[in-house]
Amino acid sequence: MTEAITGAVTSISPAPRIRVQAMKEYHPPLGCRDLLRLDFNENTLSCSPKVSEVLGSISAGALTRYPEREPVEAIVATHLRLVPEQVALTNGVDEAIHVLFEAFLEAGDELLLPVPTYTMYEVYASATDAHVVAVQAADDLQFPFARLLAAITAKTKFIAIANPNSPSGSVATRAQLLEIAQRAPHAVLLVDEAYFHFHGETVVDLVGAIPNLIVARTFSKAYGLAGLRIGLLAGPVELMRWARRVLSPYSVNSLALACIPPALEDAAYLDWYVSEVLAARAEFEAALDVVKLRRWPTRANFILVEIGPRHAEFVRLMRAAGVLVRDRSNDPGCDGRIRITIGTREQMQQAIVALNGAVAALHLGVEAK
Ligand code: PMP
Repeated sequence: MTEAITGAVTSISPAPRIRVQAMKEYHPPLGCRDLLRLDFNENTLSCSPKVSEVLGSISAGALTRYPEREPVEAIVATHLRLVPEQVALTNGVDEAIHVLFEAFLEAGDELLLPVPTYTMYEVYASATDAHVVAVQAADDLQFPFARLLAAITAKTKFIAIANPNSPSGSVATRAQLLEIAQRAPHAVLLVDEAYFHFHGETVVDLVGAIPNLIVARTFSKAYGLAGLRIGLLAGPVELMRWARRVLSPYSVNSLALACIPPALEDAAYLDWYVSEVLAARAEFEAALDVVKLRRWPTRANFILVEIGPRHAEFVRLMRAAGVLVRDRSNDPGCDGRIRITIGTREQMQQAIVALNGAVAALHLGVEAK
């Protein structure tokens, strides 16, 4: 269950593009996750029962048709108070990122990336001929606003900001995002709101009004549909037109499309799940404070925790106690830090027991602040 990012060059024939040979590999675990999943920031419980009902009613005949995305894009647009031409559904936000980089990043362009952040930005950027300019956050892992502004150049073509960010859980303010958009009018500003529901603040209402702003959302987190792979992009019609050139018309499958309307309609389920996670997060933060482990303020359904040099043992002990957590030590500025997804209160009670056991076994927290 290890994860590694490596780059390698090969002499095999036929050879892939040089760029691809130098690309970083990303190996998340693709099996054996039948424990308490606090490692990938998913919904840890279930999607809305209304979504399960629709899924169960899909006929074999319906599967013979290619997916018809347009009516669903119109429903999503209405939900976001946008017009359909401003919205594109994607196979998760991962595909959205891939499509945008393919559409906009040219050789010599710069992609500005506040780091640490979501791994796939760098993975997909490394397949292009653009140059990644990483803007390192300080030790507090707050959004490095001033440094990001200072890093904008005439070559900046794309700025990708996860808001809330992962693995830190920190956020950029609306005023900061607006200023970045204004200071880099020649660049696409992607605000990735994958964890929007836990934060509650958005800039999606500015889509269209700000010519270079694109917002991404996912159904993989609060909605509990990571397995269906549904994301979306919302942006100005002119930019979305280019994104659509690169996007496969069928990349969102018909099962996923069928589940979007009930997922959007069941606001009560979503609200319940989010409030459950926020209550569980407060309890888990209190438990971390009791054992004196450093934690970073978070606005998302996960929390970054300082474990120190024994981080790998900590992950092993948590797994042995039935809880999967994510070692973020390879992220820039995150050595010894573990990201823990927040599930329901009941699940987090199990996590607290596992945490206390691991802390005692490793004698952690004693000298922490
Ligand atoms: N953006 C961020 C910030 C994420 O953390 C993740 C998933 N971990 C994604 C996008 C990918 O979401 P999806 O499942 O929609 O591809």
